[in-house]
Amino acid sequence: MTIRAIRVSIASFNMAKLIDGRAIADKVYVDLRGEIAELKANGVTPGLAVILVGDNPASRAYVRSKDKMCRELGLHSMKFELPASTTQAELVARVQELNRESSIHGILVQSPPPEHIDESAIVRALDPRKDVDGFHPENVAKLVLEDPSGFVPCTPLGVQRLLTESKIEVDGAHVVVLGRSMIVGKPLALLLMQKRRNANATVTVVHSRSRELAGITRSADILVAAIGRAEFLKADHVRDGAVVIDVGINRVEDAAKERGYRLVGDVAFGGVSMKASAVTPVPGGVGPMTIAMLRANTVTAARQSL
Ligand code: NAP
Repeated sequence: MTIRAIRVSIASFNMAKLIDGRAIADKVYVDLRGEIAELKANGVTPGLAVILVGDNPASRAYVRSKDKMCRELGLHSMKFELPASTTQAELVARVQELNRESSIHGILVQSPPPEHIDESAIVRALDPRKDVDGFHPENVAKLVLEDPSGFVPCTPLGVQRLLTESKIEVDGAHVVVLGRSMIVGKPLALLLMQKRRNANATVTVVHSRSRELAGITRSADILVAAIGRAEFLKADHVRDGAVVIDVGINRVEDAAKERGYRLVGDVAFGGVSMKASAVTPVPGGVGPMTIAMLRANTVTAARQSL
């Protein structure tokens, strides 16, 4: 369905369609299970190694859930929880060891590492063929060059897949990306402007120094918010019928919750959903797709190793 058609069909209800990231991720897993079974029949079990340095509780929980979810899908999963005192040389050595480990096809170093470690040096130590996060300079170059043999970062890949599966036309659409990080904004802009299917967008990137931000966002057919500012994007930023993808994950204090906070996105969901034609929720939108794309990249790495 084109954006125009979605606008027309939703207009009568004056309420955005909810893009269900969990349901779309489940669809991705159906395909992945088939691919994993095929690889196993050829004697290869896709393997992912996740390294965590330090004791950040959020990162620790995240790494454990990645490990559990990989096992559930039938992937080989290894997790390394290293002390905060780990030196850069020790971490590089561990990465190089995993580069040589034939049962491991993907390596992920949980971000951020402790301050004494230079993250870019760790990324450069990765074998680009195992860099399932897509952060190695060789993979970044492949994204720029539109060489499909490289790995694309999981969140941008997940956003593109959400749009494709939701039948939202990206070709020729004006996509405005809020945020220019190397993890989300910049690779997403590069991905959606590629000269290929499910891309070909006219992309504008805005950031903290952009002038007339609301004027630019109001000209978007598709708006992607990835700035890390709780409920920043309001209805006034959105044109009637635009598609809004919320990448943000922010903790907001909430005494009513047992854990003392709730998760919200970068989008003020209530107002925006009255104006947009389709919108992703937080949680349950982009987050599940990021995890699905990490597994998909691991399966691709295993296939490419054959
Ligand atoms: P980041 O590295 O902090 O980058 C934020 C970007 O937003 C920067 O480019 C910054 O501009 C821009 N920005 C900040 N405030 C702004 C403002 N008021 N107006 C316009 N632009 C502004 O963040 P990130 O790693 O990309 O993450 C962004 C959000 O996505 C976070 O909430 C993060 O938790 C979430 N996230 C979610 C997933 C997922 O799977 N759902 C994955 C990754 C990240 P400057 O460059 O000028 O500083």
